[in-house]
Amino acid sequence: MKHFDVIIIGGGLAGLTSALDLSQSGLEVLVIEKENYPKHKVCGEYVSNEVLPYLKRLGLDILSTKADLIHRLVLSSKTGDSVDVELPLGGFGMSRYALDTLLYEKAKANGVSFKFETATDVVFENEQFRIKTNEQDYYSDLAIGSFGKRSALDKKLNRDFIQQKTPWVGIKAHYQSDDFPEGEVQLHNFDGGYCGLSKTETGAVNFCYLAHYDSFKKEASIENFNQNILSRNPHLKSFLDNSNLLFDKHLAISQISFQNKKPVENHILMAGDAAGLIHPLCGNGMAMAIHSAKLVSDKIKAFKTHQDRKQLEANYSLIWNKTFRKRLHFGSIFQRILLQPKFTTLGMSIVSKTPFLLKKMIQQTHGQPIL
Ligand SMILES: Cc1cc2nc3c(=O)[nH]c(=O)nc-3n(C[C@H](O)[C@H](O)[C@H](O)COP(=O)(O)OP(=O)(O)OC[C@H]3O[C@@H](n4cnc5c(N)ncnc54)[C@H](O)[C@@H]3O)c2cc1C
Repeated sequence: MKHFDVIIIGGGLAGLTSALDLSQSGLEVLVIEKENYPKHKVCGEYVSNEVLPYLKRLGLDILSTKADLIHRLVLSSKTGDSVDVELPLGGFGMSRYALDTLLYEKAKANGVSFKFETATDVVFENEQFRIKTNEQDYYSDLAIGSFGKRSALDKKLNRDFIQQKTPWVGIKAHYQSDDFPEGEVQLHNFDGGYCGLSKTETGAVNFCYLAHYDSFKKEASIENFNQNILSRNPHLKSFLDNSNLLFDKHLAISQISFQNKKPVENHILMAGDAAGLIHPLCGNGMAMAIHSAKLVSDKIKAFKTHQDRKQLEANYSLIWNKTFRKRLHFGSIFQRILLQPKFTTLGMSIVSKTPFLLKKMIQQTHGQPIL
């Protein structure tokens, strides 16, 4: 029976980054991931630059890749009124297909073990974890739960948020567009949601939106929804009319939950979306996933010295809440503003005259570079 220092359940951004960080400190790490790499994921693919120094320290120099370096935000209301601002910190556009694979390859090269299986249960007994998958059981001292926004494991663990249905769906595809500007992320409002557009490392434009199911269900298909609802915003109409779909079909996910979650459950240290998902319009979920990987890795390294599980769990909860709770709160306020037509029109007219206000709002949901 092989025993690991740490088992990480879910090899997305939070899981892969913590695997890489912990393995660089000499810990024996296993990642259990249910899908193979590379793989496209529903995501806006705009990553805040706050993660650059940390990723560089882990050996990933994003600035030397073909990622689109983004410094400007264009925001439009559903009728097409728009404002643009320079982003205080900026970010980069890279597909999840490329970014997750880059991290996976780096982690593998650093000695992290991978099992492509589905974790079905986590049992904590006699101070160790037994992680069950659809194939076998694995054992470890510590477990990180980085299985994303919603997983069958949440049900198994009886987590509070999973008991409630949520009305949000997410849609994404890449498009070929000859005139989409570099260095720009666009966020366009439409009835019941908003759509992000930004370039990726291949030059393709990532088109990704979040929509309320009530608005979505009235149309029979994604194509109809794009045509009849999104296209009422002239910016989205122009984009859809002048670009070509590069995927066979759009990717879709449903039941996206923004409810509060706990950073530690059943002694599992939760990271990334499994600990809390910020509203996508903030463009900060990936940075938070990577940042939480650093927080959890630092606390685990300290545990290796003091061996006090209670202290580990309390310290991690404390630092997680201190770092992210305020951002999540502001994210939910912005989401409410952006989805209320009354507020959006008024808000747009205010920020178009005072762009520094928009910058301030962005700063509330973003962190400082992770050193
Ligand atoms: C519509 C939308 C747009 C977004 N746009 C942006 C954006 O532009 N910028 C931004 O920063 N953030 C954005 N986000 C948020 C961002 O996608 C997430 O915050 C980020 O992916 C979180 O990473 P993670 O590692 O926590 O989860 P994920 O990347 O989802 O990884 C979780 C992994 O766990 C695996 N898994 C799940 N269950 C199991 C199991 N039982 N066993 C084994 N493996 C399992 C999954 O296969 C997956 O690989 C957006 C989100 C949505 C919904």
